[in-house]
Amino acid sequence: MKTDRRAFLKLGVAATAAAALCPLPARAQAGRPRVVVVGGGFAGASCARALRHTDPRIVVTLVEPSATFIACPFSNSVIGGLRELSAQQFTYEHVAADGITIVRTAATAIDASTKSVTLADGAKLSYDRLVLAPGIDIKWGALPGYDEAAAAVMPHAWRAGEQTLLLRRQLEAMDDGGLVVISAPANPFRCPPGPYERASLIAHYLKTKKPKSKLLVLDAKDAFSKQRLFQAAWAELYPGLLEWVPLSKGGNVTSVDAATLTLVTDFGKHQAKVANVIPPQKAGRIADAAGVADRSGWCPIDPVTFESKLQAGIHVIGDAAIAGAMPKSAFAANSQAKVCAAAVATLLAGSTPPSPKLINTCYSLVAPDYGISVAGVYQPTGGQLADVPGSGGVSPSDAPRETRKAEAILAEAWFHTITAEAFG
Ligand SMILES: Cc1cc2nc3c(=O)[nH]c(=O)nc-3n(C[C@H](O)[C@H](O)[C@H](O)COP(=O)(O)OP(=O)(O)OC[C@H]3O[C@@H](n4cnc5c(N)ncnc54)[C@H](O)[C@@H]3O)c2cc1C
Repeated sequence: MKTDRRAFLKLGVAATAAAALCPLPARAQAGRPRVVVVGGGFAGASCARALRHTDPRIVVTLVEPSATFIACPFSNSVIGGLRELSAQQFTYEHVAADGITIVRTAATAIDASTKSVTLADGAKLSYDRLVLAPGIDIKWGALPGYDEAAAAVMPHAWRAGEQTLLLRRQLEAMDDGGLVVISAPANPFRCPPGPYERASLIAHYLKTKKPKSKLLVLDAKDAFSKQRLFQAAWAELYPGLLEWVPLSKGGNVTSVDAATLTLVTDFGKHQAKVANVIPPQKAGRIADAAGVADRSGWCPIDPVTFESKLQAGIHVIGDAAIAGAMPKSAFAANSQAKVCAAAVATLLAGSTPPSPKLINTCYSLVAPDYGISVAGVYQPTGGQLADVPGSGGVSPSDAPRETRKAEAILAEAWFHTITAEAFG
C-alpha cells in the first residue's frame, strides 16, 4: 500500500514537471477518470486534494494562473498594520506533491457538450467532470463611477494582494484628522462580516495612530452579520470614531467620483481622505463563459452534489455558487470542496451521493485581542442548502474579555487549519 502511494506521488510530480512543458496533462493517463478543477483558491485547492485522497485513481488537474495564492481571511489585519502580507501567501508545492497536475494558466472557455476546457494559450483539457471554483469578480459598472481606474484610487481590497497594500499605504499616508469612508455593498457578496471587521481594524489603527480621524461606514443594507456583537464592541472600543450609516439613514452609495474621492448617496455627498469602496460582485467570469451563472451573476447548484443546475457535468463550489443559507466564506468553500469531491468520486464510480451536512464558522476581529464568531450547519432542503433547525449561533453578547481574547486566538488557529487543508 505504502509503495503504491509513493509510486503514485512520483507520478504526480513527474506529471507536474511535464505540464510546464506541454499543457495537456489530462490526456496522458487514459482509462482513469479525469477531473479538472478550475481555480486554486480555498474551494478549488481543497477540492483537488480531497478528490485525490478520496480516490487516488482519479486524475486531477488544477488550473490556476497564479504561482502564489494570497488569502483574504486576515487581510483586514494587514490593512490595519497588524500583520504582513507575506503571512497571507501560499504556494502550490504541497498540492502538486499530492499527485495533482497544476496547469499555471487561466481557463478562458468551457464547452460542456464536448467536456473540454480551453486555456489562455489555446490548449484544451478534456474532463469527465469539471469543478469550477473561480471565486468572485467585481461587477464593474454596477456602481456608477467605479471602474478599474477608480479602484486604483479608491481600492476595494476585496481580492487580497496589491489592493490590500494600497489601502494600507493610503491610511499610513493620511494626516491625523482625516475622514476614512468604507462603502459596503448589498447582499450577496464575499464574506458578509468582512466590511465590519475591516471597519473595526481600521478604527483600531486610527485610534492608536491617528486619533483625531473619523471612520464612516456607508452601507447599502439595514442589517449585517454579527451586527449586535460588532455594534456593542464599537461602542466600547471606538466611541465617536466609527459611525455606521445604514441604508434607511442614507448609507446607500449610488455613485463615486474617483477624481475628488467623493461618495454620493441619496442623502448627500461625502468627501473622503481615504475611500474603500467594496463594490457589487458576481461569480468569477469563467462561470459566465461556462454558462453556469444565472442572471444574478452567481451559479445555481444542486445542494447534494454541487452540480450546476444549468450545465450537466460541471460542479460549482465556493463564492461563485448560490449555496442558499451558506455564506460566501473560506470555511464554507472548504466544506463545499470536501462534499463536492466525495460526490464527484461517487458519481464517477456510478453511484448516488448521499445527502450531506455542511458547516461554517466565521471569526472576526474587532481588535487584535477581541474576536467574535458565527457558526452554522446546513443541509439540502427543498433544492437549496438551508440551516439545520436549532444549530449554529453567535458568540454570547455578555461574554467577558477573556472569551473575546480566546476567540481571537481561535481565529488564528482556524486560519492555520484552513490554509493547511488547502495548501499545507
Ligand atoms: C477582507 C476579507 C476577509 C475575509 N475573511 C474571511 C474569514 O475570516 N473567514 C472566512 O471563512 N472567509 C473570509 N473571507 C472570504 C474568503 O476569502 C472567500 O470566501 C474565499 O476566498 C472563497 O474561496 P474561493 O475558492 O471560492 O475563491 P478564491 O479563494 O478567491 O479562489 C479563486 C481562485 O480561482 C482562480 N481563478 C479565477 N478565475 C480563474 C480562471 N478563469 N482560470 C483559472 N483560475 C481562475 C483565482 O486565481 C483564485 O486563485 C474574507 C474575504 C475578504 C475579502
